[in-house]
Amino acid sequence: MKDNLMEKIVSLCKRRGFVFPTSEIYGGLISSYDYGPVGAALIRNIRNLWWKEFIERRDDMVGLDSQIILHPRTWEASGHVANFNEPMIEDKKTNKRYRADHLIENWIKDKEQFADLVVENFTFEEMGKFIIDNKVKSPEGNDLSSPKKFNQLFNTSIGVIEDAKFEVYLRGETAQGIFSDFKNILDSTRIKFPFGVGQIGKSFRNEITTGQFVFRTLEFEQAEIEYFFDPEVSDWEKLMDEWKLQMISFVTKVLGIKNENLRWRRHTDKERSHYSKDTYDLDYNYPFGWKELWGIAYRTDYDLKQHAQFSGVELNYRDPITNKVFIPHVIEPAVGINRLFFITLCDAYTEEGDRIFLKFNPKIAPYKVAVFPLVANKPELVSKARRIYEDLKEKLVVTWDDRGNIGKRYYSQDEIGTPWCVTVDYQTLEDETVTVRDRDTATQIRMPISDLDSYFQNKLK
Ligand code: ATP
Repeated sequence: MKDNLMEKIVSLCKRRGFVFPTSEIYGGLISSYDYGPVGAALIRNIRNLWWKEFIERRDDMVGLDSQIILHPRTWEASGHVANFNEPMIEDKKTNKRYRADHLIENWIKDKEQFADLVVENFTFEEMGKFIIDNKVKSPEGNDLSSPKKFNQLFNTSIGVIEDAKFEVYLRGETAQGIFSDFKNILDSTRIKFPFGVGQIGKSFRNEITTGQFVFRTLEFEQAEIEYFFDPEVSDWEKLMDEWKLQMISFVTKVLGIKNENLRWRRHTDKERSHYSKDTYDLDYNYPFGWKELWGIAYRTDYDLKQHAQFSGVELNYRDPITNKVFIPHVIEPAVGINRLFFITLCDAYTEEGDRIFLKFNPKIAPYKVAVFPLVANKPELVSKARRIYEDLKEKLVVTWDDRGNIGKRYYSQDEIGTPWCVTVDYQTLEDETVTVRDRDTATQIRMPISDLDSYFQNKLK
């Protein structure tokens, strides 16, 4: 099934309103996708659950919502202007551009002699050499240029008069807003060390590799945490282990992703960013193989030091009891909400005979319940069903369908992953009971209307 799982998911996403290609009427926009009616509900559920688990349920976390456009010095301080580069190479004949590391990764796939090669360890020069030495060609079979550095930051400008405009960037990550607000957060809250700041928001990267659906897009939503601590008091390795457990627990227990599709990968010394002491990726087994879902890095005090230097503002902390002054260190768990969205679809996609259904954890399903009158042309059935629908809607996200026959309605609810369908039939008019059909087993039980609410609430606990 894995072979064409990607096509099946992309097609279901379009057919049922999870994901549409952006600006499709104009021929689409490269690596850009819109979230349709059920997709918007699913991504919102994931985003809200992240916020609830990592911000609201913890005493040591606060939230932030900083801007997409920050002062441009931010990106000089963070190193993005100088170093946020990817290796780009060109097909000499078609002029098509590729990310050199991704192209080499695809080229060595299934070639046994390169089974142990870690492309992430290559420098720009080593990639160029590998391409020449091994006569690597473009996917069209043409010669390739040598890799060039390509900065992924998008830029734009502020100002109305042409010569008074100044260049700014769309943020390449949400983290830098946290560092630049660090002092304001300390001064405005009563939070004690160790503590973290989390935020969810759009980030932008001019990606060279295309065609990976919502896995890699130009515009995406990040959920990042900076967890600040005093390295003389807290042991970073212990903190890192605790955060790794939290990440896994969120993915498996809250989102319901299967353990077997997840693995940890530690960055090698060569691959790791210069400021990081240790980095792990939580990888997921996507339809196109194991790739990063969520990264966690120990970034030391690099970012606060850089911003202090570039802004001239001291970004340290004075302990009010001991008077000790120190620059906090940070651990950063950073994930793309869109990748979490994508893995919930990959993991939930199920085929049984000719039945296709999305086996979402009910907590993340776009709709929890669908309510149907058995037939649409019997006013007594419709008004009864309508009342049940309105009552349930007070507490749950519920949908209504009275089109076509019951089989078709079940089919379409299965494809959007609705866990339960309630049908009002003739017996309902006699004894106030309805049928509840379960998505995963396709079996039905009969129950009194008065039990529905507690039945669903219990299941959603
Ligand atoms: P990759 O190696 O896949 O390009 P990265 O290591 O550059 O990712 P980070 O800078 O660590 O990614 O960003 C944190 C998280 O943001 C990633 O783990 C991923 O979930 C998400 N992310 C990064 N780039 C994109 C993108 N272009 N589209 C969607 N999500 C992204």
